[in-house]
Amino acid sequence: MTEEIWVTRSAMPPMQEYIDEISALWDSRILTNMGVKHEQLRRALRGYLGVDRIDLLTNGHMALELSLQAMQLRGEVITTPFTFASTTHAIVRSGLTPVFCDIDAQTYTMDATRLEALITERTSAIVPVHVYGTVCDVGQIERIARAHRLKVIYDAAHAFGVTYRGAGVGSFGDAACFSFHATKVFHTIEGGAVCFREPAFGERLYQLKNFGIMGPERVEAVGANAKMNEFCAAMGLCNLRHIDEQIARRKQIDARYRRWLSGIPGVALRVLQPDVQSNYAYFPVRFDKAVCGCSRDEIDEALRRENIFPRKYFYPLTSAFSCYRGACDADKTPVAQMVSEQILALPLYPELPLDEVDRICRIVLRRLR
Ligand SMILES: *Cc1c(COP(=O)(O)O)cnc(C)c1O
Repeated sequence: MTEEIWVTRSAMPPMQEYIDEISALWDSRILTNMGVKHEQLRRALRGYLGVDRIDLLTNGHMALELSLQAMQLRGEVITTPFTFASTTHAIVRSGLTPVFCDIDAQTYTMDATRLEALITERTSAIVPVHVYGTVCDVGQIERIARAHRLKVIYDAAHAFGVTYRGAGVGSFGDAACFSFHATKVFHTIEGGAVCFREPAFGERLYQLKNFGIMGPERVEAVGANAKMNEFCAAMGLCNLRHIDEQIARRKQIDARYRRWLSGIPGVALRVLQPDVQSNYAYFPVRFDKAVCGCSRDEIDEALRRENIFPRKYFYPLTSAFSCYRGACDADKTPVAQMVSEQILALPLYPELPLDEVDRICRIVLRRLR
């Protein structure tokens, strides 16, 4: 029986490194509430991500939800249905109405050419997703947002460390939200961050993540609790020391997959964008049965029989979730619909041995005609 291979595997720093990082907490007894580790990690990430302003939160979902709330939006928000549940839930849970824009068939990010047709007098913001770490059409989105006075909040959960024309991806938009969940390229066990442009937004975000408490006797907003604790921040400090070597390793694995799978009719790989330094977060492959002879589901089953567990990221579309039935219409985004039915994310994490990549590819190739 071969060992199970999952789509991802959480990175762990050397155990002693983490123990050294947290041992000061036994003396300080300051375990959360923006302690020393929180501030160290915040500064380190500001440098690593190449952004001016950043705050840390308890997870990526709250980063999105509280960003939407700190932006003081109303009405409709244009977004993509080709994403993780969190993006759409954050919009709806903030009392806003999601309006789904179709995606580009090559990049799988929001198709900016379809954006303007969806703008109404009720539109207040755009929430695009740098899905798989692929960078959205930031120039076009910014131009449209500026022309219509809309806020732009990027879901950058997949895009840690990605740069576009040398600029950190978190520096685009009014805000960009990162997830530091255990399964992501960089993690703090659970965690998230918001990079932002306006200091006033940062103040509102801070209020929302800490009960609106601004002093011992001053409560200025109806806030929630979304603070990152010191143990999570310490994990982040450890993981950040190893992130470059891990991304380099991901790049090797990505290249190995491409050696086997590129140039096959009906098999589409994630685009490598010019001007973008990728983080190689995922290896999604699109299988067009009419051309390659095998459906995504058949490939998925073939791999599962061999104890390899890829994931249908992202299927179904968020607009097709049962909780949104009737409220949204998945048929209005035919490209997203087609991609979600054909896409399969193959295993990719730094420790995945290259000979396992070879084995995965051989299983896939055996199924194609
Ligand atoms: C992981 C993820 C989130 C949510 O982040 P959490 O840290 O798990 O709360 C949001 N959006 C996308 C696209 C994600 O992949």
